[in-house]
Amino acid sequence: MWHPFTQMQEWEREDPLLIERGDGIYLYDIHGNKYLDGSSSIWVNLHGHRHRALDAAIQEQLGKIAHSTLLGAASPPSILLARELIKIAPKGLTRVFYSDNGATAVEVALKMAVQYWQQQSPPQKKKKSFIRLDAAYHGDTMGSMSVGGIARFHERFRPLLFSTIALDAPYCYRCPLDLRFPSCRTACLDPLEDVLSKRHERIAGVVIEPMVQAVAGMITQPPGYLSRVRALCLQYDVLLIADEVATGFGRTGTMFACNHERVTPDLLCVAKGLTGGYLPLAATLTTENIYEAFLGEPEKTFFHGHSYTGNALGCAAALANLEIFKKEKTLVHVRKRSGILKALLKPLAELPIVGDVRHCGMMAGIELVKNKETREPFPLSERMGHKIAADCRRRGLLIRPIGNIVVLVPPLAATELQLRKMSSILTKAVKSHARQIAMA
Ligand code: PMP
Repeated sequence: MWHPFTQMQEWEREDPLLIERGDGIYLYDIHGNKYLDGSSSIWVNLHGHRHRALDAAIQEQLGKIAHSTLLGAASPPSILLARELIKIAPKGLTRVFYSDNGATAVEVALKMAVQYWQQQSPPQKKKKSFIRLDAAYHGDTMGSMSVGGIARFHERFRPLLFSTIALDAPYCYRCPLDLRFPSCRTACLDPLEDVLSKRHERIAGVVIEPMVQAVAGMITQPPGYLSRVRALCLQYDVLLIADEVATGFGRTGTMFACNHERVTPDLLCVAKGLTGGYLPLAATLTTENIYEAFLGEPEKTFFHGHSYTGNALGCAAALANLEIFKKEKTLVHVRKRSGILKALLKPLAELPIVGDVRHCGMMAGIELVKNKETREPFPLSERMGHKIAADCRRRGLLIRPIGNIVVLVPPLAATELQLRKMSSILTKAVKSHARQIAMA
């Protein structure tokens, strides 16, 4: 096997992790070792592993059919799920286009945006550029990489990608603006306003991860940022594409991150938590206005689809997932536990190698720095994040770092006690490394 985002030479040298089963928020390897799933199996798992209702829903669907195509046909689970998604989505999103992972949900949104402008009367064919944020991550396909901005992942492919307009991310910890919140808020978005005012006739959309730029290192946006982006898009007649692949389904404490600022994007991309972390399914939600631009002669068709679009098992799991939200009052618990998590992680900020502790709902990023005063980062070659994650694993917590950022994304179902265990392991691991560095 060749693992994703993994240096295989290192993998072959290190003690490989082979997960055999899961139960609640625990994972068990083939040797019977038990680990807390501190990354929610890469931000997908919500209610824990082997949740009875999710298992039963998939088994029940399996008794009918696993998959049938949505190309020119429908299926009860896909229809029912579309209806449920629209009920919980930000108001104004009324149409659901399925695909099968986060990157494809974004590809769909990008293509829809461009074709939407082409099909206006008169056609606005010049509107085909996208504005993206620096350090954005929207997936690994060519289109989603084009609107991404993580140098390490994307730069070598830049010659193959379509050009975009990149703006600075609202990275408060490393902000070059010499202003304090909230007066920094408008200044932070001046560059967006500037570009939109000058080039809106050529811009199809602004692509954004609302509230938290996850892969960038859990960069949390200041309050008011998202709603201002929405307002500017409306003012300059540009579509807003919200990528909620990571933030959707309660991860930030509300069903969607857009809910924090009462924002309705023109296109909303969801995946990961859609099936509670069980199966690969994604959706791009949009407005009636965009949907209607595709009605008419055959050339207006949206020519996009995947073999497993709207997979019935995935839709059945997603329906069960949304049902659990209601039955278990998941959002109420998440809001409470989000406050607990914040308090638990706070002491980390005092440690000499911790520069910043960022948090939103059940997403947290701890930025490690070589020099706390100057905020100088550790060289990536020191692999600080990786070392701390390895230490956490020895202590029974699985997390996946991003460079110098230690990332903790517990399943929404994590109890207070389990959150305490996670943060205690994490704190011990960071402390032990801080001590080693101090002694060296
Ligand atoms: N968008 C965001 C915001 C993500 O965090 C990710 C995955 N980490 C993706 C898109 C891509 O999702 P997938 O891996 O399912 O293609």
